[in-house]
Amino acid sequence: MFDPMPLSIIEHYAYCPRQAALIHVEGLWSANADTARGEANHAAVDRGVRSESRAGLVTWASLPVWSERLNLSGVCDAVEIVDGAPVPIEHKPRHNGRLMAPAAQQLAAQALCLEEMWGCHILTAALFTRADRRRHEIAIDAALRTATEATIRSCHSLLYDRALPPVLEDRRCAGCSLAEVCGVELPDPDETSLFTPQTEGVW
Ligand code: SF4
Repeated sequence: MFDPMPLSIIEHYAYCPRQAALIHVEGLWSANADTARGEANHAAVDRGVRSESRAGLVTWASLPVWSERLNLSGVCDAVEIVDGAPVPIEHKPRHNGRLMAPAAQQLAAQALCLEEMWGCHILTAALFTRADRRRHEIAIDAALRTATEATIRSCHSLLYDRALPPVLEDRRCAGCSLAEVCGVELPDPDETSLFTPQTEGVW
């Protein structure tokens, strides 16, 4: 049995398998990873902080979660307790259509962990976008569960095989923070429709 896989790989893989490999296999974010590790250590001090609003809503901040079935572990930004059941909340800087589907899988993975820990069934989770202070409800439905479990299996295979997936060369690359080290050749924005707005889900 390997060490538990970090939850964060799911969102990276759902966005781009190569990005997940660059970060989690090649360690190309080593400087950032060190920073993240420092923050994680700091967060560990504050982990599991429970608060209760005047309306009686209980929220746990930075709550560690894990799943033995999926060999997965991580930390939820926040978990609200609604009618005795946990609702994971992921915080994002702003709403970004391209990132919402990968973020939804990340939330679904958190929900799967919480279900195993709590012995419950979770129907919804939420993304909270700080820029507009909006809450976006995410249904943890059968389709999302199936997609997320498939991604989790692919992530385990990636960490086992340690092979670098091919570059995407699509619109995701234009917004990728690893484009400079990935090896992808970004086309001239003046000569391509790469930056032309597309409907959500079309890369
Ligand atoms: S630049 Fe493109 S192929 Fe490379 S990691 Fe980013 S999204 Fe993936």
